[in-house]
Amino acid sequence: MSRSAHPAGPRHADVLPEGHYSAPPSDLNALDPKVWSETVTRNEDGVLTVGGIDVKRLAEEFGTPAYFLDEDDFRARARAWRTAFGEDADVFYAGKAFLSRAVVRWLDEEGLNLDVCSGGELATALSAGMPAERIAFHGNNKSTGEIRRAVEAGVGRIVLDSFQEIVRVAHIAQELGMRQRVQIRITVGVEAHTHEFIATAHEDQKFGIPLAGGQAAEAVRRALRLDGIELIGIHSHIGSQIFDMSGFEVAAHRVVGLLREIRDEHGVELPEIDLGGGLGIAYTSDDDPREPHEIAKALTEIVTRECEAARLRTPRISVEPGRAIVGPTAFTLYEVGTVKPLDGLRTYVSVDGGMSDNIRTALYDAEYSVSLVSRSSDAEPVLCRVVGKHCESGDIVVKDAFLPGDLAPGDLLAVPATGAYCRSMASNYNHVLRPPVVAVRGGEARVIVRRETEEDLLRLDVG
Ligand SMILES: *Cc1c(COP(=O)(O)O)cnc(C)c1O
Repeated sequence: MSRSAHPAGPRHADVLPEGHYSAPPSDLNALDPKVWSETVTRNEDGVLTVGGIDVKRLAEEFGTPAYFLDEDDFRARARAWRTAFGEDADVFYAGKAFLSRAVVRWLDEEGLNLDVCSGGELATALSAGMPAERIAFHGNNKSTGEIRRAVEAGVGRIVLDSFQEIVRVAHIAQELGMRQRVQIRITVGVEAHTHEFIATAHEDQKFGIPLAGGQAAEAVRRALRLDGIELIGIHSHIGSQIFDMSGFEVAAHRVVGLLREIRDEHGVELPEIDLGGGLGIAYTSDDDPREPHEIAKALTEIVTRECEAARLRTPRISVEPGRAIVGPTAFTLYEVGTVKPLDGLRTYVSVDGGMSDNIRTALYDAEYSVSLVSRSSDAEPVLCRVVGKHCESGDIVVKDAFLPGDLAPGDLLAVPATGAYCRSMASNYNHVLRPPVVAVRGGEARVIVRRETEEDLLRLDVG
């Protein structure tokens, strides 16, 4: 039977891909520092604490489900990226991973720039006081309204994604009597996922202008002719959750090849190159992400070497980490509602959230870890699947996890590494209310995005 033909949909339990679980961990109470944020520990009562506050208190005060974000950890990661790349490079935080006004202020204070890819993200950034010249505007189909607002606001760069957009942005800027700094996003035929990458001549996807067939060179030709825009560089983003730097190596080689062509044809050396984001984080103990300083060193060396070989001045490099900054800084706290052992299979543990607060498991077969955090337990490990409360059998938060055999309703579970692409992709499916994001730091917790209410839902439903 084909997967997609299953009446319950491709994610029905009996056609799920094989799990990747290995043997149960030796100590279920241990918290692997790789997957938990910096200030997370267990106190003497066995309760997990973050920023000096225990999760039982947090659950009481803020309810569950909720995302708890370790502010010191966020700032430390942002600073580590900034420091690693130094003064000759720029770090743009990819706002789509998670954006709120508090986050914008932290980024501003830590000296990072910001990528946005919609009018909503731009509005959030501007309303929190991010200087427009430190904002880059992305997207494969920006509306003319969005482009106009970005140009008027004075964003530092717009990343052009198509031939139509080259003309569109140039026209709008000219109408406004402005000259907009732009980069052109190209696709270099490198597809990178986690531990592998594929280098091809073509890339079959919606983003960017293909290097193949001279399309990128033609885009540059057109951009250089238009008065409304100033072409400052070439942009390439090759994938997500990447651990292996060799994909960047091939991408940089191809981007620098284009820079050389541009110099030879137009006598212009473009001053910037953006290598995108996509650096991986640890979702489970099996993942081994690189440190920002290793990534900075590797990327800088690759670009410098390629430029020397092409006899080009080394352009200013920029990178766009999203997940690698915010991903590890937050966990989702859930309360267990039901525990359902299925003989010979596994135990289904239902929590009070699910695919509405974390769609990544259903969408990408993403793997997560999970721990009992309201107490420690010496009970035997049991193979579990942590599922949500939605009307979908694919509503899975953690596909395979070992949890203590005495797990019971009312226990609190936490899923680490949910800072990126969880709240930002959250939905109202089943009219479930989206959870709050609570920042915790130095013994204090404050809501930075409040919990949705039924009034919020009904306000949109005008009857
Ligand atoms: C999504 C995206 C990023 C960020 O990706 P991460 O995996 O979160 O680092 C950066 N740049 C562009 C253009 C993107 O689309």
